[in-house]
Amino acid sequence: IEPWQDPNALPFIRIQNVTKKFGDLYAVDNVSLDIYRGEFFALLGPSGCGKTTLLRMLAGFETPTQGRILIDGQDMAAVPPWRRPVNMMFQSYALFPHMTVEDNIAFGLKQERLARSEIRDRVAEAIRLVQLEGREKRRPDQLSGGQKQRVALARAIVKRPKVLLLDEPLGALDKKLRERTQFELVNVQETLGLTFVIVTHDQEEAMTVSTRMAVMNEGQVVQLGTPAEMYEYPASRFVADFLGDVNVLEARVVEAGRERMRVHSEAAGCDVLADRSPPAVPGETVWVAIRPEKFVLAKEPPADPAVNCMAGEVWDIGYLGDVSIYHVRLASGVAVRCTQANRQRLIERPITWEDRVWLTWAPDASVILKS
Ligand code: ATP
Repeated sequence: IEPWQDPNALPFIRIQNVTKKFGDLYAVDNVSLDIYRGEFFALLGPSGCGKTTLLRMLAGFETPTQGRILIDGQDMAAVPPWRRPVNMMFQSYALFPHMTVEDNIAFGLKQERLARSEIRDRVAEAIRLVQLEGREKRRPDQLSGGQKQRVALARAIVKRPKVLLLDEPLGALDKKLRERTQFELVNVQETLGLTFVIVTHDQEEAMTVSTRMAVMNEGQVVQLGTPAEMYEYPASRFVADFLGDVNVLEARVVEAGRERMRVHSEAAGCDVLADRSPPAVPGETVWVAIRPEKFVLAKEPPADPAVNCMAGEVWDIGYLGDVSIYHVRLASGVAVRCTQANRQRLIERPITWEDRVWLTWAPDASVILKS
């Protein structure tokens, strides 16, 4: 059982009804969050949603207008940044250009006046963790972007903070390096058993690294959960759309059962069955959300085309190598996106432009949303 499922577990970071106003603007609006020891927690959301401001309040660079922040049971209100059990790694790595890798990493420890041998051991350990062995004597301008990023990470972890705050730490890296570094980050976090809080606007990054994440919008946390929970069961169209690609179709409730809901969608041209639905009454307007990869795409109609089945015409195909994205235009005029894995090499396409196709899906792939 995970700490957040354990009613007796004490949160390591407790954010209680925290608000931050800049003039009349609510940058953070009454946010409450518990983060547990050893978590890799992601704050995710579009630009300006308040995630950096929330992180800066944890670090102590901003003071909440209202609310409380507790770390390790201690109220942080009167604790300045340098006395907090947190360390922040910035997007601009802020390395000292005239110092070697080793000296950059050792800097904070020297300031703490630790014994020389202790500094040497801890720097060596940090260098090993971020895999920079052999580059100890280089200066930042002799390193690649990814290596600089790893020096910054080593400098942050060498001080062994209980909490490491990361603000878009991989922003400057290209896609391949970014993906590799994401796994390295998780590796370092798990090896040292630290608590990491990362801010990112990149949903794939948040999902790759985090144990849980909070999606923010306009200063508020709109949903909280594990990456899989949030992707499979988004609570709103905003979250569904923010976490990857999704088709959203308007519908009207026909039957609202305890286990299963039946809705009718004019746009889809069929009834839709869904599992795990929110409470609703017949006649109510809702939205059906279906991820593009949940569809089965066929050139023949299924046995019961009246339920969970949309008929249409292939109007565009995007070939991405591993998958192809089919744009299907339905009779209602609505366009739907469907992703299919290319398990075989596509020499001749089994399904091509202007083909008449049927899209079907399982009831547990339809998510009913009320907002
Ligand atoms: P981004 O991904 O673009 O960094 P964000 O989600 O991190 O965005 P914040 O930087 O937390 O967003 O900003 C939230 C809101 O608060 C924005 O509207 C921003 O303009 C505003 N804001 C942030 N810092 C200040 C400040 N020091 N003074 C005034 N307004 C600010």
